[in-house]
Amino acid sequence: MPESAAPFGRLAVVGLGLIGSSIARGARRYGLAETIVAVDRDAGVRDRVRELGLADLVTDAAEMGVAEADLVILCVPVGAVGAVAAAIAPHLKPGAVLSDVGSVKGSVVAAVLPHLPDGVAFVPGHPVAGTEYSGPDAGFSTLFSNRWCILTPPEGTDAEAVARVRGFWEGLGAIVETMTPEHHDLVLAITSHVPHLIAFNIVGTAADLEEVTQSEVIKFSAGGFRDFTRIAASDPTMWRDVFLTNKDAVLEMLGRFNEDLSALARAIRWEDGEALHALFTRTRAIRRGIVAMGQETAAPDFGRRPSED
Ligand code: NAP
Repeated sequence: MPESAAPFGRLAVVGLGLIGSSIARGARRYGLAETIVAVDRDAGVRDRVRELGLADLVTDAAEMGVAEADLVILCVPVGAVGAVAAAIAPHLKPGAVLSDVGSVKGSVVAAVLPHLPDGVAFVPGHPVAGTEYSGPDAGFSTLFSNRWCILTPPEGTDAEAVARVRGFWEGLGAIVETMTPEHHDLVLAITSHVPHLIAFNIVGTAADLEEVTQSEVIKFSAGGFRDFTRIAASDPTMWRDVFLTNKDAVLEMLGRFNEDLSALARAIRWEDGEALHALFTRTRAIRRGIVAMGQETAAPDFGRRPSED
């Protein structure tokens, strides 16, 4: 464990889905909290969390679950963060640190700050790691290992609270970077949100085709389509919220994408092989850069297999 990762006393995780349950698993495995409290509104999820032994205390009463916590991490869809923050805020103890894992940061900061009580620091976070699965069974303790976690503390946030949250994520194996919420939303719009939109769109287009049968789409999916279907299988609630809360940045990047796509269509129409070859050469180099940075393996099938816990 890095030196900065001094364990928190009590950790409360609100929302034990893929990300929340991975944090609970990791916090236990790497000794990042003395006591772990799991808060979830769903009785089925709470039962599963108990069966899997992911927490010391399991409750649906958020106000009770967070009352004594030193670190509270909201792991619910971005659109639900404001309401959950409003419900728990009066029950946070002075000196507590509040954080989240939402995939959009500007809207989360705007939704949480009005409810933040005096003496509580808010350190928003976004682990850039995930899979297309949801729920407490989908999580695993090494999900964040060697993945980036972006912190977007609002101006004036207590530096020690930021350092402690950084240490927590480093304890989970993540590499931490700090930036403004606005910059985060712009960067993630092009690296995550627009790629997901393209995947949802292409899979939807294929599903609607009439001249090519569904069984042909599935049968010949290894031609490229299959890689999009993994992304397009991601959680519908989470992604609805991402697009509704990061509207401006996504539309800006989508505008650029559409312009570039038109240029590509033009190159194909005018049989400009040179332009096509030049672009494909540049994009190949980006893939190699990602592999070289350890953010992907060169292995096929995405090189990504969740490890057993
Ligand atoms: P998930 O597996 O679907 O889990 C979400 C959890 O939040 C569930 O326990 C869900 O309970 C609960 N929840 C949903 N709406 C709620 C509400 N209105 N009030 C209280 N609890 C509510 O989702 P996830 O993939 O872990 O995503 C959680 C957060 O992590 C999201 O903000 C997402 O943007 C972020 N994130 C996701 C990924 C990824 O790849 N999945 C990566 C990085 C960050 P119910 O079962 O009752 O709905």
